[in-house]
Amino acid sequence: MMLQQIFDAINIGIVILDRDMRVRGWNRWMEIHSGIRSDMIRDTSIFDTYPHLNNPKFTRSCKSVFSFGNFCFFSQKLHHYLFPFKTSCYSEARFDYMQQSCAMGPLRDEDNQINNLFIYVQDMTEVAAYERKLVQINMKDGLTGIFNRRFLETKLAEEFNRHKRYGGVFSIIMFDIDYFKKVNDTYGHPCGDFILKAVTSRTAALIRNIDYLARYGGEEFCCLLPETAITAAIMVAERFREAIETHENNFDDNVIKVTISLGVAEFRSSMEAVHELIKSADNALLRAKREGRNRVIAMDMEPSLSAD
Ligand code: GH3
Ligand code: MG
Ligand code: MG
Repeated sequence: MMLQQIFDAINIGIVILDRDMRVRGWNRWMEIHSGIRSDMIRDTSIFDTYPHLNNPKFTRSCKSVFSFGNFCFFSQKLHHYLFPFKTSCYSEARFDYMQQSCAMGPLRDEDNQINNLFIYVQDMTEVAAYERKLVQINMKDGLTGIFNRRFLETKLAEEFNRHKRYGGVFSIIMFDIDYFKKVNDTYGHPCGDFILKAVTSRTAALIRNIDYLARYGGEEFCCLLPETAITAAIMVAERFREAIETHENNFDDNVIKVTISLGVAEFRSSMEAVHELIKSADNALLRAKREGRNRVIAMDMEPSLSAD
């Protein structure tokens, strides 16, 4: 009687199954989250209600509990859930189902025989959502939602290592908004933020899903283009430039137009580290600024694709 009260008050799900996979126990927590009353599911096969559990991993685990009396774990990281329950956890990291950490173990009779096993189900959705958010914070820029510099640098290091091992090409485009300080000074910081977001969405719309667009600094961006030689990268940069130049930003009844300057560089085998590639793109970007802004300059090349 007392144990039954604990069974129903505890904040985890507890299921008891017999050797034929029939439900012998289904606590209050399971009732609440499944919407199935204990007297409805008792004595029926668990597979009738949850057919997806009739899979080799689950049945093998049950067999091993019955045969050897050991414990099996179903971690949330690997399995996400055993029982598909709707989650009440509100977070930006939306999960279709409650994320569960589950374990099963033997229940021995008075004569030490294992004729039943228990499964406990722990709701890990909030922990999983928090973890997911931390990962996002670590790789994304808060204002624009694109990758941050740290994440881009790890991707650049990966590309560099891949290049050293397998060869191939990759390029980067560095770009910076022209006279951005003037935008802030004239229209205010919120307007500057608005334009940063607009530049982000205009350029992000032009890249492939294998490319990485990152906010590299205040109003400076870097786009990593895997499998892309410099001629193709220059074309992408030119598309960026044109998309920004032609876009009208409407903020507080003001129509504001901005331009960007871009430097393009391709990784060369002679480069010993990734920072040499960044330096190369940076130098090209500086030249684009010096030579009049609103233009694309590539490493080792005479400027030719710029707008006047
Ligand atoms: P240039 O054409 O040479 O690039 O001139 P610039 O004015 O764009 O360059 P400068 O480096 O002098 O100014 C960059 C400005 O960007 C200054 C800084 O306040 C602004 N900035 C950096 N980060 C942010 C941000 O997150 N929001 C806003 N609104 N402004 C930012
Ligand atoms: Mg600038
Ligand atoms: Mg700058």
